[in-house]
Order: sequence, then structure tokens, then C-alpha cells
Amino acid sequence: MFGSRRRRERAALLQAGFPAEWSEWCDRWFPWIGALDGDQRLRWERRTHEMVLDTSWEPARGFEITDEMAVTVAAQAQLLVLGLPDGALGAVRAVVLHPTTIVVEGEHSQVDGVVSDDPTPILGEAVEHGPLLFAWDEVLHDVEHPEEGRNVVLHECAHVLDAADGVYDGTPPITDPELADDWVRACTEAYHAVVEGSDPGVVDPYGGVNPAEFMAVATEAYFCEPHALHRAHPALSDVLGRYYGLDPRRWSGA
Ligand SMILES: [Zn+2]
Repeated sequence: MFGSRRRRERAALLQAGFPAEWSEWCDRWFPWIGALDGDQRLRWERRTHEMVLDTSWEPARGFEITDEMAVTVAAQAQLLVLGLPDGALGAVRAVVLHPTTIVVEGEHSQVDGVVSDDPTPILGEAVEHGPLLFAWDEVLHDVEHPEEGRNVVLHECAHVLDAADGVYDGTPPITDPELADDWVRACTEAYHAVVEGSDPGVVDPYGGVNPAEFMAVATEAYFCEPHALHRAHPALSDVLGRYYGLDPRRWSGA
């Protein structure tokens, strides 16, 4: 009974359309919305709406998650996958929001499998089969300062896409064999440039930690500094564009 009532309520909310106050909020913060065509905007609104309704939003103790916070996370997550099929972020069932940077104490396993017991500051985290975790102040900082070229929501959601085939290895499932070959070639070349320090600084040096982190920071660069990335790594920019099905140079200043 409870389940079917919830389903009816969810359907009614989706039927009512993307709430006007969410639209106003997003239009104020996300300049890329104006560059979406009609179909893209409708798809983005539907998927953002579904993600807000279907995700378990879990506040850290003493924190309260507002609609604006959930919409801010979902809106950016759904921009990232706008050119991918429905359900690309279906593995994300829950999002934990902390008010500010989390310091993890005690034994802690990182994406590359290294276990550390040093206190580690965490701005965001993607755990396989677990919730996404973000520091809200970092999410907001990235929205307010796109010129800094960082975006923790895009970063963690890129990890989710990467791990859709079960491994964090910097290569998401790609069905087109030509794109898969080009992806490996372009990413390997740019990854080595970052590891060797010969990258001109567009891709965050943190990407040199391992291929999974490389994919996450390259994704941030592709969406936040698309012109600079295209100049520095045209082949990398090309495979990211073919994979994500979006060209952020359309809405970014040079
Ligand atoms: Zn990462």
C-alpha cells in the first residue's frame, strides 16, 4: 500500500513539471542552461527532477538539506550525463551531504585501494555500491567560482561512470569500439604528460595519482575549462566530447 501511494505521489510530482523555484535557482547559478536546446533542457529537467525525488538525501548529523542543495547537486550531475542514455547514474541511490570538509580519521581506503590511517580531508567521495558524499561548502564554492576549474560533483559522478563496469580504471563502459580505442590512446598520452609534469597545467596534477583520478579531473577540465583543455590536449578533448555527447565550449568563454 505504502509503496503504491509513494509511486502515485512521485508520478504526480513529475507530471506537475520542473518546479518554477528550482528553475529560477538553476538559471541564476548555471550559465550552461541557456545553451541547451529545447530537447536537452526538457531531458535535463526530467532527469534532475527524478534524481531529486528518487535519491535518499542524507544530511550529516546536525545538518539540514534544503531543496536548493539537492537541486544543486542533481542539476550538475545530470548535466554531466545529459548526452548519455537514461540511468547512467542509476547506481547513485543516496547522497550524503556534510556542511563542510570532512576529515576522515582511522583506516581509510582510497579509490586506488591504498589504505591510509593518516587524517585525510575529503571534499567528496564515491564509494562503489555506497552513497556519494560531498562537503556542501565545496559544492557551493565550485558553483560560485567556475573560473577555478574545479567541480566536486562532476568529479565524483565521473568516478561513478568509470566504475559502471566494476573497475575504477579511468575507462567507463564504451560500446563504440572506435571510440574505445581512441579513448585509451588519448587518455594514456595525456595521463603520462600529467605524471611527467609536462602538462601545461590544465589537468589538475592530482590526475597523476592513477587513471581513475585522471578521468575525474580530466572531466572537470572538460566541463570547466573546455577551451584550454582543447588547446592543450585536442585528442583528449575529442574523446571526452564523443563520450559525453556535449561540447561545453558552446557555453564557455574562451
Ligand atoms: Zn577522485
